[in-house]
Amino acid sequence: MTQSIPLVDLAPLHREVADGLDTAWRAVTRSGRFVGGEFVEQFEAQWAAFCGVDHCVGVSDGTAAIELALRALGIGAGDEVIVPANTFIATWEAVAAVGATPVPVDVDPDTLLMTASAVLAAHTPRTAAAIAVHMFGQPVDMDELSRVAARLNIALIEDAAQAHGATWRGKRAGSLGDIGCFSFYPSKNLGALGDGGAVVTRRADLAARVRSLGNHGRVETSPDEHVLVGSNRRLDAIQAAFLSVKLPRLDAWNDARRGLVDRYRGHLAGTAARMVRLSPNAVSANHLLVVEVPQRSALRKALAAEGIATGIHYAIPCHLQPAFAHLPRSHLPVAEAAAERILSLPLSPHMSAADVDRVGATLVAELARITANGPSAATGRAKSRPAVLV
Ligand SMILES: *Cc1c(COP(=O)(O)O)cnc(C)c1O
Repeated sequence: MTQSIPLVDLAPLHREVADGLDTAWRAVTRSGRFVGGEFVEQFEAQWAAFCGVDHCVGVSDGTAAIELALRALGIGAGDEVIVPANTFIATWEAVAAVGATPVPVDVDPDTLLMTASAVLAAHTPRTAAAIAVHMFGQPVDMDELSRVAARLNIALIEDAAQAHGATWRGKRAGSLGDIGCFSFYPSKNLGALGDGGAVVTRRADLAARVRSLGNHGRVETSPDEHVLVGSNRRLDAIQAAFLSVKLPRLDAWNDARRGLVDRYRGHLAGTAARMVRLSPNAVSANHLLVVEVPQRSALRKALAAEGIATGIHYAIPCHLQPAFAHLPRSHLPVAEAAAERILSLPLSPHMSAADVDRVGATLVAELARITANGPSAATGRAKSRPAVLV
């Protein structure tokens, strides 16, 4: 019986830093300061430095990071915020939470990322911001998008919850727009041992507003006053301490992901499984390894029978989710077609090359078998374009 291969395996990663996590646990327990305090401040400084910006505010989770970023920018009722259709629902939830309206745009068929031209086309006098989501780990083309945002005079928010450590022209994801939002959910490239998040920005004014809004509207200079109607979105000291232990390993873990993705690419070259195209300006964090395949459900079943777990990120684009059925219906053909074909393959920094080979070989064999037998199996975009573009 061969071993099963999980979609994500965090156990070896945590074994690697186990001593550090134990030490952090003891240090926080001894400090007696569990919300805010020195461990949070230390991680905020480290994360700001890593991202190459002056300010970082630790928050409770990634969804809160986006919501606080929007609020700090003064975005609320009556405003429109342009968002990609294919993102995790949190991007949209944050827009809705501040009372603004998510305006969906379709994505580039090769990268599955939002484009500047789509933002330009979706812009109205009510547009207040666009949220660039660096899906699967690859930064959006931030040159084009920054130019368009500046021209339209709208804010540019990065949802970098899948892109810790990714770069665009050498600059880190999160440092490329007005404000960048991160999640430290355990399975993200940098994950806490629970929920966590952060906002990073070059702008001191935005950082101060995020900090105040996430801490009951307090300001440091006048601790008894609640200047803004805020809420509690603070980062726990224990999570900050754990994150400080893991952060020095992030680049190495991302390098390991990249090596495994290159190995996958070798297996998939020339097959009907298509990987997203990488921009030469981008270094992806490879949060997820997403391929587009024909006959997805048959393929998933065949892989599962071989003990290989797969995922779908995400099966239903946000504009078709019941929660957003009250919005005007849009038809976004690229996102909708991709949602039916995307498949996430096993990937974690400590995955073995042998396991990648097993997944790759099994996928290629099953793909050949299914597309040979299946009804009109090879229809779809894989037929009309080069099978593998990278
Ligand atoms: C994970 C994720 C979030 C939300 O983060 P949470 O910490 O789970 O709230 C937001 N956007 C994207 C693209 C994500 O992948």
